Order: sequence, then structure tokens, then C-alpha cells
Amino acid sequence: MIIGVPKEIKAQESRVALTPAGVDALVRAGHKVLVEREAGHEAGFLDETYTSSGAEIIESAADLWNESEMIVKVKEPLEPEYKYFRKGLIIFTFFHLAAEPELTKALIESQAVAIAYETVQKDDRSLPLLTPMSEVAGRMAVQEGSRYLSKIHGGKGILLEGVPGVPPAHVTVVGGGIVGTGALKTAIGLGARVTVLDVNVDRLRYLGEIFMGKIETLYSNNYNMMEAIKTSDLVVGAVLIPGAKAPKLVTEEMVKAMQPGGVIVDVAIDQGGCIETIEKPTTHADPVFIKHDIIHYAVANIPGAVPKTSTLALTNATSGYVLKIANKGWKQALKEDAALAKGANVIDGNITYKSVADAFNLPY
Ligand code: NAD
Repeated sequence: MIIGVPKEIKAQESRVALTPAGVDALVRAGHKVLVEREAGHEAGFLDETYTSSGAEIIESAADLWNESEMIVKVKEPLEPEYKYFRKGLIIFTFFHLAAEPELTKALIESQAVAIAYETVQKDDRSLPLLTPMSEVAGRMAVQEGSRYLSKIHGGKGILLEGVPGVPPAHVTVVGGGIVGTGALKTAIGLGARVTVLDVNVDRLRYLGEIFMGKIETLYSNNYNMMEAIKTSDLVVGAVLIPGAKAPKLVTEEMVKAMQPGGVIVDVAIDQGGCIETIEKPTTHADPVFIKHDIIHYAVANIPGAVPKTSTLALTNATSGYVLKIANKGWKQALKEDAALAKGANVIDGNITYKSVADAFNLPY
């Protein structure tokens, strides 16, 4: 099969969909891989490295899309890319179609085959292609939050770990899932005093066990939330209710109860956010704003700030599936792999994923 890797065109998106290692595996299996010029540069993968792994560098996006049988990407295709869609072209990437009516229409009309990373799902309900990005975002949330706590970045001027004789900062993580666990790991590693709130007591039990007394676990309700937030220097929002908008668990009153110069990082902002004082996402170009003397960080694509790590983490998870589709063709690959089959979102002009169809009141 001919597999194409375009350069991402979304603003501030520096990840790339295949590393030279991924190219090597595909070429060894007898496939041809086309990589758009400089597709991997910002993630630290140079054209020369791709060519030495057996890829062919293509100058224009148009040639790359037109010559490929499968396109592997990171972010959803943008409007200038819709013209390349055609019947039978496989596109394997993050799509988030429920929020993308025009893209969905373009896929239906073109009869391309859209397989979405975010809906590939294993029997245990885990999302193997989404998880690595949550792992990155959780760790980054504490790293960024810690930076903004310093005076030079507008914060209250405290060191997360403290020093002998001076207490550490208090970090509260709201939601102890994949993002929350990453945040806990980094916060503990940096020496903070850490609290996690979740409604899932089994999850709290698990976190309590793996972090062996280094965290305080609290059942998530309004009362406990206020108690934890008002003494927090850094709050990380990491809640998810699958398929729903995130609930505003951290209220304006709680934010006002924090000491001036505190920091809030709302990782759940891509699902609407769980902090009442954050109305819309911020960007890497302008990541924070101040409200009630608290620094608010609400970047919706946090992993984009560390494209090398994020590319490696993402491609570790996607490459096996890319190889499977290339080796077997999409029909057979989806037939043999139930997790991958859940990734099918639009096939032959029909929506094949229920929540996407429901979002547009279309048949499924
Ligand atoms: P997850 O499902 O692994 O974890 C969510 C956790 O929230 C679960 O443990 C759940 O029990 C808990 N929860 C639900 N209701 C709660 C409540 N009322 N109080 C406290 N906890 C509650 O999800 P995840 O992978 O950790 O993702 C969390 C969010 O981060 C999602 O919205 C995801 O899309 C987002 N995310 C954002 C970025 C970014 O760049 N901003 C990157 C990756 C993920």
C-alpha cells in the first residue's frame, strides 16, 4: 500500500503522524511511504532521517494526498484538505467529528474511509490512541502550573517542593483518571503536597495504593472540593464524563477562596472545562489569563507544546494499527480487530459511529 504522511497545517501543531521508526516498519513490510517535506521537522525528525528509513519526500501536499492510498495524520483534516478526499482513500487520524459538521459532510460526500484514533476502543473500554495524549497532558499540567507559580510568571512566588523548614505547595487534582494520574505523578515527583478528588471510590483506592501514602484522596463533592481548593496553590482540572460536557465542579466561589497568585490548569477544557471561571480555551501563543487574582491556564492541545514526546507517545500507539491496515487492507483489518473496528466513523458515504450520527440526527 502507498501510505502518505502530510505536514500538519493546524496552527501551532508540530506533531507528525509517523516517525522514521514507523516508516522503517512499513517499508520492511513491503509498503511505500511518502512524507511531505518538513512534516517532522518541528518534532525533531528531519527529512534525511525519513529518507534513510526508506520514505520518499514529497514537495506538495496535493501530490502527497493524490498519490497515497492511506493518509496518516495527527489532527483532523482542515478545510483546505477536503478537496483531496476521494472514494476509497483511507484517512487515519484524530477526527472529533461530532464537533465538525463540515468535515463530516465532506467525508460523506467523498466516500473516503475515515478511521478515527479517538474512537478506537478495547474491550475493557480503554481508548488506546487517546490515552498517550492524556498521559502527556497530565504531566505537562503540573509542569506548566509550577512555572506560573513563580513570581516572574505572575504567580505567588513559591517552589512546589519547598525546602527544609518551608512547606511544599499544595496541588489539588480534580479527577483521578489518566490525566489526573499523570498530574499526580509529576506533582509527587516535584515534592508537592497532593490531594486528588474523584467520585469513583475504587479509583481513589487504586491511586492510594499505587502512590503509597504520598497523596490524600477525597471523595468528590461540593463540600470537600471547597475544602481542598481554598488551601491549594495549584489546581488541575482533569474530569471526564464520557460523551458529556464536563461539569463545572470548581465554582467561582472556590476560585475566589484561593490565595492571590494561585494557578489553575483546566486540562478538561477540550470538553468544555470543569472550572466555572474559565469560559473558553486559551492557546499556546497566549496560554493564561488572570481572574480574581488567580492565573488560569486553559490550553486545549497541551501535548502540542512537547511535539517530540507527544509524537513518540502517539506513534507508539498508532503504528501497529497503521501496519495492520496497510498489510490487510481496511476491510480485513477492521474485521479481525474489534478495537480498530470501533474507529470506523465514516465508510462509503455512511456514518458508522453512533454518537457521530446522533450529533447530526443522521442514520447510522
Ligand atoms: P479519564 O476518563 O481517564 O478520567 C476522568 C476522571 O474524572 C475519572 O476518574 C472519573 O471518575 C472522574 N470524574 C468524573 N466525574 C467526577 C466528579 N464529579 N468529580 C471528580 N472526578 C470525577 O479521562 P482523562 O483521559 O483523564 O481525560 C480527562 C480530560 O482531559 C478529558 O476531557 C480529556 O479530553 C482531556 N484532555 C485534554 C487535553 C488537553 O490538551 N487539554 C489532553 C488530553 C486529555
